[in-house]
Amino acid sequence: MLEGRCLCGAITYQVSGSPIIVAHCYCRDCQRVSGAGHTTGAMFREEDIEVRGAMSEFTSRAESGSTVSHLFCARCSSRLFGKNTGMPGVMTLAVGTLNDPSAVTPEVAIFTRTRPRWEPADAQVESFDSQPAWKPPE
Ligand SMILES: [Zn+2]
Ligand SMILES: [Zn+2]
Repeated sequence: MLEGRCLCGAITYQVSGSPIIVAHCYCRDCQRVSGAGHTTGAMFREEDIEVRGAMSEFTSRAESGSTVSHLFCARCSSRLFGKNTGMPGVMTLAVGTLNDPSAVTPEVAIFTRTRPRWEPADAQVESFDSQPAWKPPE
């Protein structure tokens, strides 16, 4: 059972099951929402994540044309989750919000074409220039 929370603690969550995939993302949108060179996200089935507290939502358009929902704490601005209309039924949690971020292991890196030159690459994972043609298993 994984647990996490936002910076101020107004939003907490629990996760059951194991991640479908854990990915570093170097896309420009992730850089803007995080203020860092990349984000690391763990994708789970939506029903495996139980959230306590009211989240705010901001939507943006992905390069693929699908809509991305950013779910965050309105009080402290931590971004906890992302959803994508191109991948219904799954939710990606921001690994840095876990109580133990080491509990998951990144497997791939995506959008590495916009990795800043000062951002180290993770040599342990498979890298993709953009979003690989990949769908979560049913
Ligand atoms: Zn908060
Ligand atoms: Zn991204």
